[in-house]
Amino acid sequence: MSDDVAAPPAVWGAREEDARAPLQGDARCDVAIIGGGLIGLTAADVASRHGLSVMLVEADVVGSGASGANAAGVAPVWGAQTPRGVEASLGAERGAMLNAALAGAGAALIERARVMPFDCGAVGGGYLALAAKPDTGASFADLADQWRRVGADVTLLGKALPDHVQSPRYVEGLLFASGGTLNPRAYVRGLAGVCEDQGVRIFEQSPVSGIRGQANGRWAVESGAGRIDATTVISAVHGGAGTGWGLDRIAWRIDCLLIGSAPLTEAQRQALPGAPTFADLDDVSVFGGTFTADGRIVATVLPGPGQPSLSDAVAIYTEKFMRAFPDAASPQWETLDRGHILMTHDKLPQLLELGPHLFAGQGCNGYGLCAGMLLGEDLARLALRRPDMPPRFMLESPRRSRLARFIPALARRVMPLIRRFA
Ligand SMILES: Cc1cc2nc3c(=O)[nH]c(=O)nc-3n(C[C@H](O)[C@H](O)[C@H](O)COP(=O)(O)OP(=O)(O)OC[C@H]3O[C@@H](n4cnc5c(N)ncnc54)[C@H](O)[C@@H]3O)c2cc1C
Repeated sequence: MSDDVAAPPAVWGAREEDARAPLQGDARCDVAIIGGGLIGLTAADVASRHGLSVMLVEADVVGSGASGANAAGVAPVWGAQTPRGVEASLGAERGAMLNAALAGAGAALIERARVMPFDCGAVGGGYLALAAKPDTGASFADLADQWRRVGADVTLLGKALPDHVQSPRYVEGLLFASGGTLNPRAYVRGLAGVCEDQGVRIFEQSPVSGIRGQANGRWAVESGAGRIDATTVISAVHGGAGTGWGLDRIAWRIDCLLIGSAPLTEAQRQALPGAPTFADLDDVSVFGGTFTADGRIVATVLPGPGQPSLSDAVAIYTEKFMRAFPDAASPQWETLDRGHILMTHDKLPQLLELGPHLFAGQGCNGYGLCAGMLLGEDLARLALRRPDMPPRFMLESPRRSRLARFIPALARRVMPLIRRFA
């Protein structure tokens, strides 16, 4: 493994120098939210729009987690689940309701981003799921039917596949019309400003070290020299440790890298899938990509052990890229971020009740933007306690997994083998 001489720039732009002030002293509010990513900020937005007083505490700066460093694929699908699987797991009625909510979430997220008072390069145009194996291709008609039943606009491409992707690898494709992309970091940072305009107080560089129940039935959220007294607490820390509730041991953390290219040439773009975001459903070690509003491609890479550099990540991605698109000139890769995704036992995001009026939301299983927006809304709904706005996700008790501690190292060790033999 080689080390890059200087750390490559971040995929979604340099981090701002100025952080908001940290939490200091005592404060009081209806809802304290921990974590300034998509889930926490969506919860803050919805709760404050419905009249609750909200404070949000972020360990670093808003968007410093996965929400500011992801592959920006707005894909209205479950990362590792099917609509039928969700209905089997949650029951027909709740499952169908949740599937329908997700089917609409891609268009909803892009529309929400477009009407915001800031530009985050949100574009529609669809999400393209691709099959390399004939069996997977044959299963796509059924998968399309499952999604159509819950209201999704999905097209089985069949003979029209070459109009959407030129590749010797793919035999079938599904185009989900309501997919697209946006600059995720610009979106969450812009959303933070919108939340502040609605009265939300945001504290940065304030890692929360504890959430304590108090004798009066309220919660105390503690960070350094500061403390928030709140009726409801929402934790949206993406498996982050340190808050004392073991959220890092409920879902399995899979480390990943995010790489970004220089702007593609017209010829390169023409040789690649037409939709703004695509995924190869037959690559278990992950292959996909998103074409950004500023003309680049960004992609997720699951690394092996060690501390892979940009060139290591590019080598892994290029092999897959050339296998899928041998006629396209390989992009020039320039930017890199490191992060993790969270896998859960039932392959669904988790809406957790940790205690009375203490909730958490996490777990993306691959695609977390659409589901994360729904989870953030549900967390706000729990805080609002309005009978006409029940959460759509099932409220679960946390199930800690002993394996969770070992999964990151294990996944990194087996990834090269999976790449080789899958
Ligand atoms: C490389 C990569 C590519 C991805 N690609 C896609 C994609 O193409 N499409 C898609 O839909 N999804 C994708 N995802 C998943 C998606 O990015 C996530 O599901 C989503 O952003 C998670 O949002 P979040 O708010 O839960 O987490 P985060 O954005 O990580 O926010 C959690 C925040 O909590 C803060 N925090 C942690 N601990 C504490 C503490 N003790 N006190 C205070 N704050 C704390 C962190 O600093 C962080 O800012 C990708 C993820 C990665 C890593």
